[in-house]
Amino acid sequence: MTFKIIKTEKTENGIARLGELETDHGTTQTPFFMPVATKLTVKHISPMEIKEMGGDACISNSYILYLRPGRELIKKAKGIHKFMNFKGVMFTDSGGFQIQRKTIMEEITDEGVKFKDPFSNRTHFLRPEDAMHMQREWGSDVAMCLDHMPAVKGDYDSIAESLKRTYEWAQRCKKVHGGKSIYGKKQMVFGIAQGGLFKDLREQSAKDINSLDFDGNAMGGLALGESSEEMYKAIEWQVPFLDEKKPRYLMGVGSPADLVEAVSRGVDCFDSIYPTQNARHCHLFTNDGMIKLDRGKYREDFGPIDPECDCYVCRNFTRAYLHHLSRSSEWTHHRYLSYHNVYFILQLMKKIRLAISKGEFNEFKKEFLKRFKKNKK
Ligand SMILES: [Zn+2]
Repeated sequence: MTFKIIKTEKTENGIARLGELETDHGTTQTPFFMPVATKLTVKHISPMEIKEMGGDACISNSYILYLRPGRELIKKAKGIHKFMNFKGVMFTDSGGFQIQRKTIMEEITDEGVKFKDPFSNRTHFLRPEDAMHMQREWGSDVAMCLDHMPAVKGDYDSIAESLKRTYEWAQRCKKVHGGKSIYGKKQMVFGIAQGGLFKDLREQSAKDINSLDFDGNAMGGLALGESSEEMYKAIEWQVPFLDEKKPRYLMGVGSPADLVEAVSRGVDCFDSIYPTQNARHCHLFTNDGMIKLDRGKYREDFGPIDPECDCYVCRNFTRAYLHHLSRSSEWTHHRYLSYHNVYFILQLMKKIRLAISKGEFNEFKKEFLKRFKKNKK
């Protein structure tokens, strides 16, 4: 069995699950968070560091890989695991999310998406079948279907139209994917359900995608500017229609509070640039909420970022020192702050898994959120 549920705990919003996802490149316990390795590196962090933090999985980006370094080079390198030397589980997205941004997309039709290469200004066309072939060449453990991602706050009719296309494209993806990468390793495929913020559309899309019997199911088009409450509702609408025996993946979510809330609604898998992006702006996670380390008040603060964090940075450096590095525009502060934020999220997922294993997730959630929300950045 590729995915198995080990333990569950009923919550006020659904069922939190502890499980295991097995791939040809290793096993990861669920729920888990994937740092984003857009260009085949997590920003400022090495694969060795991801592993030492307890990270088993990363996600990379088809669109970026397609532009640079390109399909031929990745094939010569025998896939992305070998190329970046990451010994763990790798997901790749289909590229749809980036391609469908206004500045890049030129046209979307039933056939596929026409988009512009920002490096060369050349036009490319991506069909659902191409997205699948490309991901077989990347050699990821989990490939994502190409979907038509509507604007999260789009009108009803445009979102309904995008769902029809997302469903048709998912069928086409399913048809051409044989379950293996071109390197002979098992490659799972996850479908993506959309639906904006409309209950009936979210439900319909979940039913459609679920009916295609993918290896796992994702919820897309969220964490894009809607409120957390709106996002939690959308998750609650879709989860009951996504096969409970398969992993459920909430794309693009990575804030500590949202992770805990989504797990309590039955989500098993996440990815986001949130930890590294916040680190680059000196916004750091602590158990008592976010802190903004470049503020003057940390100039003479000789405590660690978070006294409860046992990461390398918290064990070795003070807020005052890190504040100094950030004010001096020393690049090392990006490394240290990113390290702490990613570590914090990976540790949070570990604590969540431990809490579910002991049947204490509800208490953990209550305590964690009470402290974390006390201090807004
Ligand atoms: Zn730390």
